[in-house]
Amino acid sequence: MKASRKHNNPGKIFVISGPSGSGKTTLLTSLIQDKKIAKTLVKSCSVTTRKKRSRETEAQEYFFVTPGEFKGLLKAKKILEWTRYLGYYYGTPKGPLEEQLKRGKNVGLCLDLKGARILKKLYPQNTVTVFVLPPSLEVLKERIQNRCRHTAQKEVTQRVQLARRELKAADKFDYCILNQKLAVALGELKNIYLQETKN
Ligand code: 5GP
Repeated sequence: MKASRKHNNPGKIFVISGPSGSGKTTLLTSLIQDKKIAKTLVKSCSVTTRKKRSRETEAQEYFFVTPGEFKGLLKAKKILEWTRYLGYYYGTPKGPLEEQLKRGKNVGLCLDLKGARILKKLYPQNTVTVFVLPPSLEVLKERIQNRCRHTAQKEVTQRVQLARRELKAADKFDYCILNQKLAVALGELKNIYLQETKN
């Protein structure tokens, strides 16, 4: 993917990253539930080939597609960036993101480390990256186990192993938030958002 294009979009991009179970999706969803913030921030909905979990809804957490459909989207250049995570594909739809930025909206995304890096390269002027840290590896393991109750144990173990490696990348981000207490972490994320969008 070319990473040198310059964009002059008025909207800002907020990439929330961090290991599986760090709480990044909950944080972004909660941020958008703030009535004032909801007027300026929208959440990007990724496409994935992973199976839908029982509590997930099509077009809310993700657009769930087959590997064939994902390849078709890539071929049609409808995916801005993508990653392969534990054997599944995840990608950011390009059209909706560009459309929202053009309208002056800010866009929030929950991406892995690769996605955060690519968006920062593609939109260096208007991308803010935030890394969410779990309180400890033990807590992270518990959260992953709870979330993936119907997922194969092998994948749960892989998520924990990957999380250990991902934690080392925290210092590459513009901001780091410790998610020990959701309300505190959300307060920090709100402050970052308001600070970065105050003009
Ligand atoms: P999960 O299966 O836990 O929903 O997601 C696995 C990982 O993929 C998470 O770190 C999540 O943030 C990341 N992810 C979700 N959608 C995308 C995407 O469109 N692009 C990239 N690069 N990562 C994504």
